[in-house]
Amino acid sequence: MPSDSSLESVHNCIKCGLCLAACPIYRQVLEETASPRGKVQLLKGLRQDRLEPSPYLEEIASRCLLCHSCAAVCPSGMEVGHLIVGLRSEMVKSFGLEWKKRLAFRHLLSPGGRFGTAIQGARILTPLMPPWIKVAGISLSHLPPLPTTPLHRQYPEKIAPPGGRVRASVAFFPGCMIDYVYPEIGSSLISLLQALGIEVIIPRDLACCGTPLFISGEEEILARNLQHNLEKLGSLPAKIVLTACASCGHTLKKEYPYLMREWGKDSSLAEEVGAKIQDVSVFLQREEGLGEMLGPLPTTLTYHDPCHLAKAEGVRTEPRQLLRSIPELNFVEMAEADACCGGGGSFQFYFPQTSQAIASLKLNHIREVGADIVATGCPACRFRLSTALDREDSGIRVVHTVQILDEARGRRKR
Ligand code: SF4
Ligand code: SF4
Repeated sequence: MPSDSSLESVHNCIKCGLCLAACPIYRQVLEETASPRGKVQLLKGLRQDRLEPSPYLEEIASRCLLCHSCAAVCPSGMEVGHLIVGLRSEMVKSFGLEWKKRLAFRHLLSPGGRFGTAIQGARILTPLMPPWIKVAGISLSHLPPLPTTPLHRQYPEKIAPPGGRVRASVAFFPGCMIDYVYPEIGSSLISLLQALGIEVIIPRDLACCGTPLFISGEEEILARNLQHNLEKLGSLPAKIVLTACASCGHTLKKEYPYLMREWGKDSSLAEEVGAKIQDVSVFLQREEGLGEMLGPLPTTLTYHDPCHLAKAEGVRTEPRQLLRSIPELNFVEMAEADACCGGGGSFQFYFPQTSQAIASLKLNHIREVGADIVATGCPACRFRLSTALDREDSGIRVVHTVQILDEARGRRKR
């Protein structure tokens, strides 16, 4: 996937080892092959024909959360995540994609795919199964209740504010997780925007942003998703396209232009669309009228930084400022708030024990500060944290930042 010239950056690694302690997986297993440095050296060996692709190398390549923690500390400015995707891509070229991923990518996540149908099937079948059955280490009873109607079917394509006075207009890219698994996040965002007098457009027929395909080293379907979404988003009149999923936002904003460049294609449309993409916390933090709408919420809340929002996009202060603006809310900062939750897309399903061990560190930090609620800016983090917390019957709620803002808005005396 990365071009030959990008892959040449493996030679920039000075083997300093600063990335080792930053890597959540290395911290768990203490194996050099699991470390960012180890993976970079293996890719180097592969490129110099000193190593052959092998199932063991494939397994090593899959042991990465693509959390950007190593890139954040690397003195050589190595984009280790891109190199690891490159390593995975080499494995896909040698061995093909695993059948489960091939089926899911081709039939569920490609443009016009049936992800929504699969979710509805899971919704109907899950209650019929014994609760002790586990899906990739997660008990069925700990999975979130699945909605009957996806977000885009709950609303018209264009949602005008009540009274019809439109102060501004934005588009919203919900992404698969919000559209089909957590539509209540989208509903909270829409009600906040409506209260601010902002028209919302949810474009129809969007495809998955492609994050699961990109991080798996798949290129063929990814190129179709990318082209499809660029055409849809590029033709919108809206100057701002909001995202409430950190991974969708990062992929649309940064990885689309990167991929077009790496594929040697014209990246101008991807750059243009990328410039329109804005995380909801950045957008809402600039909305002056929002603070006046919030009522008291006397609760103790902490915030978990999604890797793709904090480390990949540098968005750290905006969500905190928004949360601190809620009257009577006791905002407490936990230790290592930007440490990965252990999700990493399919990583949590392939390596449930390591994922749970990483999540447990996060849960300890959440408990240390006595939080009743954890807010975050990504539905995938919400999924990982809530399955881990529910497993312990902790009673701690995990919500998206926009949900808690909307809850506070409901507490405002009218
Ligand atoms: S921090 Fe960067 S330069 Fe140092 S070992 Fe890790 S990848 Fe190599
Ligand atoms: S991206 Fe995260 S999990 Fe992957 S090697 Fe770097 S620090 Fe480790």
